[in-house]
Amino acid sequence: MRIVSGIQPTGNLHLGNYLGAIRNWVKMQDEAAASGAQCLYFLADLHAISMPYDPADLTANTRGMVAALVACGIDPDRSILFNQSQVPQHAELQWLLNGTARMGWLNRMTQWKDKAGKNREGASVALFTYPVLQAADVLVHQATHVPVGDDQKQHLELARDIAQKFNNDFASEDAPVFTLPEPYILPEAARIMSLRNGSAKMSKSDPSDMSRINMTDDADTIMQKIKKAKTDPEPLPSDKGGLEGRPEAANLVGIYAALAEMTVGDVLAQFGGEGFGRFKPALGELVVEKLSPINARFLELREDRAALDAILHKGAEKARALAVPTLNKAYEALGLVRG
Ligand code: ATP
Ligand code: MG
Repeated sequence: MRIVSGIQPTGNLHLGNYLGAIRNWVKMQDEAAASGAQCLYFLADLHAISMPYDPADLTANTRGMVAALVACGIDPDRSILFNQSQVPQHAELQWLLNGTARMGWLNRMTQWKDKAGKNREGASVALFTYPVLQAADVLVHQATHVPVGDDQKQHLELARDIAQKFNNDFASEDAPVFTLPEPYILPEAARIMSLRNGSAKMSKSDPSDMSRINMTDDADTIMQKIKKAKTDPEPLPSDKGGLEGRPEAANLVGIYAALAEMTVGDVLAQFGGEGFGRFKPALGELVVEKLSPINARFLELREDRAALDAILHKGAEKARALAVPTLNKAYEALGLVRG
């Protein structure tokens, strides 16, 4: 079993990333130790240049993200932790796969439609071909499993379609070039919404810092953000059905449940009938309790730039060694002379 997953260094790691992805990366890493599986986790810096951005921010965010991931529990000795652009086989394979991917497939991607919006003519080509690079990210490492949230299911399907078409067109049936990756569905992966709008997801690129809890926020900031989080005037219901039509309340209860590793029902059994004046401080304390050890470790790691670069250097070396044989097979299958 080989698991591959990435995150864009587009900003601060936030609670949504942690509860929806990174906490599970750590769990998978710990399970992998027992089962002999291999986990590859990478910073998708090549993906990050598909939207307007500031180069100096990307540099700082890349190192900041390594520190944040290690602080969350990703162990660079047990998992392969690397930066995408330091493993050029990802970008090379993307070009080869561009010959297989179809315009029509990419045109149907909802992320492309959402992110390009009405300005398709002005969107970068990279934003359009983003899912082909994502396919290369997993196929170049022969990933067997890819953990995906709702927002990325369609892209994994596309990666499978590309792999299948490439194998059909260029490889013999008994010696396929690519493994078809399976989705790794995590039942406990939470989807966390913005603190300012219960129907938009919490995201790194939201311009309002009040919309998210960063893994690097200190205790005062966390308490303040939760205090200011949008809510409605009703007290909490005593069962799950009572949260219907109350996205902000549902989100805060969901965060509590995910952090405390309780069901929403159990949280409501404890807090049903309480107003937000009581629930918010309890939630704030729980968030602070869970995040403060991560925060402390992050602040320490962030200071040691040489150590962060050494982690990336070592990770890239291991990832390149895994990727090269597959890339060579792909070149050969396509009939490209390499001398
Ligand atoms: P951006 O705004 O730059 O797209 P993002 O916050 O959406 O940033 P990504 O780098 O796109 O973060 O995603 C990293 C991982 O975090 C993915 O596995 C994604 O499914 C997960 N994720 C992102 N936002 C949330 C959220 N609000 N709740 C749960 N999981 C999330
Ligand atoms: Mg995103």
